[in-house]
Amino acid sequence: MKIKTKLIIGLGSIISIILILSTTVFYTLTTQNSYLRDVVMENYERVSVAEQLKYETNTIVREVRELLLSTSESDVNEKITIINQSETNLKVLFDRLQRTESFDMEKRILVSSIHNLHESYVDMIQNVISLVTTGNEVEARSYLLQENQELRKNMIEEVDEFAELEEQAMMVALSESEEAYQNAVIFLVVFIGAALLLIIFITYSIVKSISKSINNVSNVMKNVSTYSTTHLPRIDVTTKDEIGDIARAYNAMAESLEIISKQEKQVADALKEENWIKSRYAELAMKFQGIKELNEFGKTIMTNIAQFVKATYGVIYIKDEGRAFRKIAAYAREDKDVGVNQVQFGQGLVGQCAEDNKMMHIDHLPQGYITTSSGLGAATPSSLILIPIEFEGDVLGVIELAKFEPFSHSETRILEQLSRASGTSIERILDHMKIEELLVESQTQSEELQTQSEELQQQQEELRLINEQLQEQYKQLDEKAKELELIKKDLEEKNRNIKLGSRYKSEFLANMSHELRTPLNSLLILSQMLAENAERNLTAKQIDHAATIYASGRDLLDLINDILDLSKIESGKIDVYAEEVLISDVKAFVERQFAPVSNQKGVEFKLKVDSDTPTILFTDDQRLKQILKNLLSNAFKFTTKGCVELHIKKGKEEDGFKVVFSVIDTGIGISKEKQKSIFEAFYQEDGTTSRKYGGTGLGLSISRELSELLGGYIRVESIEGNGSTFTLYLSDYDGYVDLAMQEVAGTVEGEAIVLESDQDDAITKQNSFDQMDIQKETIQEQLSNKMVLVVDDDMRNVFALTTALEKQKMKVVFAENGKEALEVLENHTSIDIILMDIMMPEMNGYETMQAIRKEEKWADLPILALTAKAMKSDKEKCINAGASDYISKPVNMEQLLSLIKVWLHK
Ligand code: ADP
Repeated sequence: MKIKTKLIIGLGSIISIILILSTTVFYTLTTQNSYLRDVVMENYERVSVAEQLKYETNTIVREVRELLLSTSESDVNEKITIINQSETNLKVLFDRLQRTESFDMEKRILVSSIHNLHESYVDMIQNVISLVTTGNEVEARSYLLQENQELRKNMIEEVDEFAELEEQAMMVALSESEEAYQNAVIFLVVFIGAALLLIIFITYSIVKSISKSINNVSNVMKNVSTYSTTHLPRIDVTTKDEIGDIARAYNAMAESLEIISKQEKQVADALKEENWIKSRYAELAMKFQGIKELNEFGKTIMTNIAQFVKATYGVIYIKDEGRAFRKIAAYAREDKDVGVNQVQFGQGLVGQCAEDNKMMHIDHLPQGYITTSSGLGAATPSSLILIPIEFEGDVLGVIELAKFEPFSHSETRILEQLSRASGTSIERILDHMKIEELLVESQTQSEELQTQSEELQQQQEELRLINEQLQEQYKQLDEKAKELELIKKDLEEKNRNIKLGSRYKSEFLANMSHELRTPLNSLLILSQMLAENAERNLTAKQIDHAATIYASGRDLLDLINDILDLSKIESGKIDVYAEEVLISDVKAFVERQFAPVSNQKGVEFKLKVDSDTPTILFTDDQRLKQILKNLLSNAFKFTTKGCVELHIKKGKEEDGFKVVFSVIDTGIGISKEKQKSIFEAFYQEDGTTSRKYGGTGLGLSISRELSELLGGYIRVESIEGNGSTFTLYLSDYDGYVDLAMQEVAGTVEGEAIVLESDQDDAITKQNSFDQMDIQKETIQEQLSNKMVLVVDDDMRNVFALTTALEKQKMKVVFAENGKEALEVLENHTSIDIILMDIMMPEMNGYETMQAIRKEEKWADLPILALTAKAMKSDKEKCINAGASDYISKPVNMEQLLSLIKVWLHK
């Protein structure tokens, strides 16, 4: 139990005892007091009543006697009044007595007897009084004497007896209360005594229990100094109170003190060991100083180390040049020759220790592992230790030691330290040995150098001579370099000339294109008209001639277009207009183009598109169609029986191409050697081919160039006589590649002029006209009586156009140049449409169109520009100058008429 609880319980019970005690004392005193008062009051009252009774009786007796002796009436009356008064008082007294309950039987009988006596006496007195009042005093006196004597005597006696009884009772009560008081005092004394004893007992037991545990603790603590700090006494804790807590705290403290002192001891031991190791180390280090030779070092270290650790056997191995370790010294108390002479790196325990660079410790050596013999006998050591000698991470050697007992911790540690010191020493000795070696070497070398220096002087002389020769050669080279510089300049000049030449070539081609197209224009128009034989006055032969002229003209036009195309591609200035091309659209195009050819030649035309072919290819629609058209034309050209097939399929993923177009024919085929050259410009298999099949030998070169421009290529496979397959591989067009190619080409070609051909337009325009499918007759209807103004300086053209247009019942006026055209326009207000040539003297087509458009009245007048389209961007120029549309020369009449019709209709 806690001391606090004990004290609370002890003091609490003492206070309770005192409280009970005081309450009891107070109660006893109060009871005693009231009892006493009761006794005194009651008994006293009854005694006083008895006394009054006596007094009133005596008063009556006395007054009656005096009444008899009285003479005067007043006196009598006075006496009677007194007697009556006393009687009344007596009556009251009796009443009180009879009502008193505390009377015992005897008293009650006595009181009633007194009462009876008194009543008799009162009756008698009343008789006496009445006798007196009636004047019979004598009679009254005798009566009184007779009667009164006995009665009065009894009454007084009894009253006295009663009074005496009461007095006695009072005395008894008094003595009783005295006794009760005595008892109460005794009780209080005993009670207080007992309480005091109880308090003393409680106090004592509390003090005792506290002091006992305190003593227990203090005794242990007092004796602490006599114990060692590693084994301090503990307090036997039995209580759970505050002293118990102190004891437990003490125990904990003692325990930690013990731990601390143990640790201190360990530290001290370690310091001692460290000191020992240090001094051994210093001792050995001293001995190492001045040793310049490995064997001596080995001997010193082995003898000392073995003694330090009391080993009976030891060997030291030092690393040789290679990976082997050589024994340099051994130690054995008697037998000096122990251990093998050489150990390989990694071989056996020694080799292993060197390889691991880690100390090895073996405590239970097998019997006979090594034997140490002495003069008295031989025994096997039980413990073996191997220590690597290390310097900057390299193992320079290994020390092996053996002894009978296990190596202690401090021994192991000193071995470790010494091995480290030995590393430095060995390194120093090795360095020293090396230096000596080097010294000898350098001496030899310096002798050699002496000889070499002489040789060098000789060589220097030779070199001087060579140098002079070289200088001579350098001079010659310099002259050559100057010559080369001149040649380079010359070449640059030539290069410039070549560029200029290329420019002239392009310009020449442009001019030639124009110059050829203009006469071709009239040639084609007129020959076509002739062939149509509208007047019906030509013979079949003449018609045939006209048709041949027309066909030759068209061939010539094709050739011009091909040459221009190739020239443009070669100059690298061709533009690619890539867009999303529907494969289905390509298919429809070739079908439209070649179905009639197939029919005409009687060669089947197959068109196959694989179902997994991509539906859209991002490329230049016109260029793609141009290539396919070329390949298919060739296929039909060189095939007379069997079939021509266009197979469109999905490209193989590994090739990296999206769509593959194969043109397969069953025609004449191409031999292996010729397959190499067919893509070269102007190539034809042999002279006869062109004669037999026609063609220019440019189609394939153009196709190849175009396919490369679009980022693809063409391959041919063919077996002579068995047909050919031309395959075009294409992917989505990548503008960057093309741009890069253009840049490269641009730098090569410099200022070369780029030429335009109408090949592309011819295709699209032809298509649109095909689709329109306008009958010649309806055209004529719509054109008749319309007024057309032809502006051209070439009379042949004017003539041809006029003839053709008039055939359509159109009215034709013409002007030779721009100026004249404006004049004609002013005079003929009814002109419906103008055909405007571009290349004209004085005022060319562009200027004329601009002048016309300036006038508001001619703002909506249709103007069709006729352009040779030799220069790039001619089309744009035409539209910008105010042309409604354009058509290239030589004019295809059908196209022209359709175009006129369209514009008139608008
Ligand atoms: P050409 O206008 O003469 O046809 P191309 O460059 O288109 O010029 O063709 C060059 C030559 O390649 C042709 O003259 C012909 O000898 C050969 N050649 C081209 N396509 C075929 C083919 N489908 N079958 C056999 N020979 C072909």
